[in-house]
Amino acid sequence: MSANNRCAVKEFPLPDREYRVAPARCWDANLSGPTSPRRGKRRRRSPLPLFLLGLVLFGCGFLLGRRALAQEPPAQAAGVSVSILAPENAAAGGGRAESDRAAPGREPDAAAPGDWNLLLVNWENPLPEDFSVPELTQLVNGHAIDRRAYPDLQRMMDDARAAGLQPTICSSYRTREKQTELFENKVQRLMNEGLGRTEAEEQAAMWVARPGTSEHQAALAVDIVDKSNQLLDETQETTSVQRWLMDHCAEYGFILRYPTDKAALTGVNYEPWHYRYVGREAAAAIMERGICLEEYLADVSG
Ligand SMILES: [Zn+2]
Repeated sequence: MSANNRCAVKEFPLPDREYRVAPARCWDANLSGPTSPRRGKRRRRSPLPLFLLGLVLFGCGFLLGRRALAQEPPAQAAGVSVSILAPENAAAGGGRAESDRAAPGREPDAAAPGDWNLLLVNWENPLPEDFSVPELTQLVNGHAIDRRAYPDLQRMMDDARAAGLQPTICSSYRTREKQTELFENKVQRLMNEGLGRTEAEEQAAMWVARPGTSEHQAALAVDIVDKSNQLLDETQETTSVQRWLMDHCAEYGFILRYPTDKAALTGVNYEPWHYRYVGREAAAAIMERGICLEEYLADVSG
């Protein structure tokens, strides 16, 4: 969804790689600054207490290890080694890892309506009041996205750039407060043009989702424009960035969420810049069949 007719972010220097490579926590840890200059002046402590502590811990570990070996079958012991994989490795599969966890019995890639990446957010399906924002990966320029969708987003942006294009993210995760502010701004502009409050709200909602009904609040959507044209209007669809994204976004699990002829179902006008992460299987089906997320979910729900 657009905030208004122009991207909030205008011109800014783009580094070669726009996003943080490491998960936010690692990145921030790397930026925590040099070690304390007083470190070298620390008094040397006796190693005896540490030695004793180590001895006690070793003893406890030995006893616990013997109990675990006696009680657990080998298959479960093998599972323990998986859980110590680094978070970035666990996230590398994008939606796949979560899908596996949700339903161990089905195909690893099979989409199901309850999957996190298939969350339906629209005017009829607002986010619950107590919606908890998923863990985010912080991007440059203050943007952020669900960390499970980040690896695919990064690949899509990298490949678009490798194709000689200049895709630019101008909107991503929004707080409820931010969405409220954007919606109110749109309503006020329409009221200034002479509309009453109710009519202004109804028209505004076709362009800026009402608070609680935006995919941006779910951290699953990004607005991407061509650096050479940052207008959020129909001219976006003629840019080389949008042509590439519309052809390739499904390969990375993204869909053009508000196609030109689906406003009656999505409740949102055509937006050739708003891309939504749904995972690769759902994205392929949706983009190939020219349907919208609402239609896809109705199909898979049977
Ligand atoms: Zn959007």
